[in-house]
Amino acid sequence: MQKLATGLHKFHSEVCVAHQDLFKSLARGQRPEALFITCADSRINPNLITQTQPGDIFIVRNVGNIVPPYGASNGSEAAAIEFAVAHLEVKHIIVCGHTHCGAMRGLLDPAGVEELPAVKGWLQHAELTRRLVQENYPHIEGEDRLTITVEENVLAQIENLRTHPTVRARLARGELCIYAWVFKIETGQVFQFEATSGQFTPIGEQAPPSALPETTVFRRAS
Ligand SMILES: [Zn+2]
Repeated sequence: MQKLATGLHKFHSEVCVAHQDLFKSLARGQRPEALFITCADSRINPNLITQTQPGDIFIVRNVGNIVPPYGASNGSEAAAIEFAVAHLEVKHIIVCGHTHCGAMRGLLDPAGVEELPAVKGWLQHAELTRRLVQENYPHIEGEDRLTITVEENVLAQIENLRTHPTVRARLARGELCIYAWVFKIETGQVFQFEATSGQFTPIGEQAPPSALPETTVFRRAS
């Protein structure tokens, strides 16, 4: 805890002082431009990888960046999505998975989460992912299989996201864009799903973030 305590002191005495105006304006309200749904894994930090400030992105995190279909769970995530979309009127939703995801590893190896009943139950919301990988990638093994599972899961959860009424309604009016991202821990790169190629490709200055089409898209099995 000493590391955290030292950090708190440094934040208050240095960072807050240097950004007084920002924090004073944030005290009056928030106007984030994006909802960022990602994994609870400690190795991914949305503000760090997007170089954004407090107030810029509304973040929802859970094990495996899962979005239960509307009505399938009484958890807080549906409330967070509804609040961000209908009240804060975010214009963008990013679902961001990451390489070496322990949740996706558990999805591929249910025996590994047998002693974690809450995790096992939560991963049921990724059944579409598990089935897509099982049926489309029987020949791919090891870490490559895990990475494909991470990618497929981002797309499967976006399908679930589209069942939420607030999301559906704003998509229909062209007021919302959805993005499928995967963060690669070892290089710090972010890959996005390109609907035209059916593949995940690096986001960079040459290829800025591009939204998914409104209709269903899936990764092209290779
Ligand atoms: Zn994860």
